[in-house]
Amino acid sequence: MLWKNRRQSTNVEDRRGSGGGMRGMPGPGVAIGGGGAVIILILALLFGVDPQELLQQSGTPGGSGGYSQGVEQQQPAGEYVGDPHEEELKQFVGVVLADTEDIWGRIFAEQGLTYTPPTLVVFSGQVESACGYASAAVGPFYCPADQNVYIDLSFLDELRTRFGAPGDFAGAYVVAHEVGHHVQNLMGTAQQVNSMRSRLSEKEFNELSVRQELQADFYAGIWAHYAEHSLGVLEPGDIEEALKAANQIGDDNLQMQAQGYVVPDAFTHGTSEQRARWFRKGYESGDISQGDTFSARDL
Ligand SMILES: [Zn+2]
Repeated sequence: MLWKNRRQSTNVEDRRGSGGGMRGMPGPGVAIGGGGAVIILILALLFGVDPQELLQQSGTPGGSGGYSQGVEQQQPAGEYVGDPHEEELKQFVGVVLADTEDIWGRIFAEQGLTYTPPTLVVFSGQVESACGYASAAVGPFYCPADQNVYIDLSFLDELRTRFGAPGDFAGAYVVAHEVGHHVQNLMGTAQQVNSMRSRLSEKEFNELSVRQELQADFYAGIWAHYAEHSLGVLEPGDIEEALKAANQIGDDNLQMQAQGYVVPDAFTHGTSEQRARWFRKGYESGDISQGDTFSARDL
């Protein structure tokens, strides 16, 4: 992706080195590739961390989507400057976010709507959000309650080192996916899904959650379409990088890597094949009316 020396969004909040926060309020958040204690275990296994330690950090087993309400010591936020590589990653996500603002701003305007951009919070280690207290182990996520996208920049390296999805556009896809959740929030889709939560069985809700995730992948594809055709910032191989990332962080793939078998009822994000296919559909069509994953018979 052509991103160097391009405009960075001003909606980036740097909370690196601030050490997280205090008591968080529980609420639903949407992550890139998993949610809940099970995924924490999976990530723990993938990342070679003691799962018990992560669970203690992030709440009770089977708890609230990977976010805890635990009380942590608050540390003063200091001036944080990362190493050159980390600073470059921060600039990169700033440019990607700026592109999502341009593209979604225009799509919304075409429909007579106003796009209010999210804030992207860059953190390290752990962070407090209106959806609760999250450790970096949950991966990037979007919190509808405060309309922030949260990302620990080290995840962008982990795409390559742990998930086998190299290339800058893999990271761009991850940011665009989370912004896709913000678009769902603005369009009222997220609220509809949440209002169903108490009325559905866990299996039914997981199925709905898969549809929500696949739509965020579709929206990431829409973004990629306009990044190529309107902004002209894609390079050869970029789409393949995004497809690979979508593929690698599918639930089936994560489960298989973690436990050696797949439990379809526990899917909350969709299979690798589904995620890549909906991304591709958005990318190829550039037409948001084709992204109704909720009524699609064939996911
Ligand atoms: Zn997601």
